[in-house]
Amino acid sequence: MATINENFLLLESNYIFSEIDERVDRYLEENPDAAIIRLGIGDVTLPLPQKVVEDFKEGVDEMGEIESFHGYGPYRGYDFLVENIIKHDYQAWGVEIQPTEVFVSDGAKCDTGNMQEIFGLDNTIAVTDPVYPVYVDSNVMAGRTGPMGEDGRYGKLVYLPCTAENDFTPALPTEKVDLIYLCLPNNPTGTTLTRDELQKWVDYARENNSIILFDAAYEAYITQKDIPRSIYEIDGAKECAIEFKSFSKNAGFTGTRCAYCIVPEDLYGYDQQGNKHSLNQLWFRRQSTKFNGVSYPIQRAANAVYSPEGQKEIQSNIDYYMNNARIIREGLKEIGLEVYGGVNSPYIWIKTPNMTSWEFFDLLLNEVQVVGTPGVGFGPSGEGYFRITAFNTLENTKEAVERIGRLEF
Ligand SMILES: *Cc1c(COP(=O)(O)O)cnc(C)c1O
Repeated sequence: MATINENFLLLESNYIFSEIDERVDRYLEENPDAAIIRLGIGDVTLPLPQKVVEDFKEGVDEMGEIESFHGYGPYRGYDFLVENIIKHDYQAWGVEIQPTEVFVSDGAKCDTGNMQEIFGLDNTIAVTDPVYPVYVDSNVMAGRTGPMGEDGRYGKLVYLPCTAENDFTPALPTEKVDLIYLCLPNNPTGTTLTRDELQKWVDYARENNSIILFDAAYEAYITQKDIPRSIYEIDGAKECAIEFKSFSKNAGFTGTRCAYCIVPEDLYGYDQQGNKHSLNQLWFRRQSTKFNGVSYPIQRAANAVYSPEGQKEIQSNIDYYMNNARIIREGLKEIGLEVYGGVNSPYIWIKTPNMTSWEFFDLLLNEVQVVGTPGVGFGPSGEGYFRITAFNTLENTKEAVERIGRLEF
């Protein structure tokens, strides 16, 4: 008899997006002519840059010729891509990264979900609340948590609330934690930490021999100078942090799949006897056992992101989304809503005016046919908030803001 991993039974059904679809479908059944605008989109919408498509195709053509065919690639990714990652994403910001510290992969979701495998089951884990669900669920599956309580929190996890009251700056844990997930700029709140604020986390991690798992998927959306582009800009971070990056949100690779993570050579974890072990080597071992790399054409496509044409095209796409973000942020502020984010990220986090996340959802859907995401779907501290994204078209974004402006708050 095959038994199951019962930890999976602890997972709360991810009902939020199906519940949204159900409510929208029901509304459309009753109002078949309604022109709904979706600002809940958590996916990019603009196509791949032309230079990316060209190099992608060239990579495919090479695969069809005996002289240029590629079989299994290097576990850490092709040198051409690793070199460009180091040069453009790190050296450009004054950070030195070694080629052996870069691991190219098929996604930051996979990397952030898989990384917990190299850590013991007895680690105490801290997550910000609200949170990108992958960090929580992957640890639930591994058995590092208890069941979810009445308060919407899994047992044993340390939740770090991020709300307007603390300016979305999580307080350092009062108990000792071993692993800390930080996503900055943040999904869903769209907020960030300054260098000085992030320094406190790095100092905490070094004092406690903790590891920070730093998700920088939205780094390309940063516009303000005091916001770090990489956690490795912070003193001491190479001794305590793993960084996750992705081509999904900066270059439209959500359906193409390419990402990377940095696991510094100076990072160590400990065994039960207190001996230290290289996390870089553990991750290499994990990847070389369970993963055979990203396809050659896709690594060629990702590499094209770093070409001058690629850089220009991705910047123009990011500018397009960030103009939408500005229109939403300023428009909603003007009508008296409390809004956060949208300056260094494509997400705008609205404080719902004297109603719950779902009440605000229903109000927008029923009165002005605009769809967003109830904040409570990202964790208990997301109650009373609502996420709107900048990934729709300029026209739809303007129209949605104008419609919401007709409501009285
Ligand atoms: C979109 C997103 C990612 C990117 O995941 P991929 O698997 O690379 O597409 C990672 N982290 C967060 C918080 C995200 O929102």
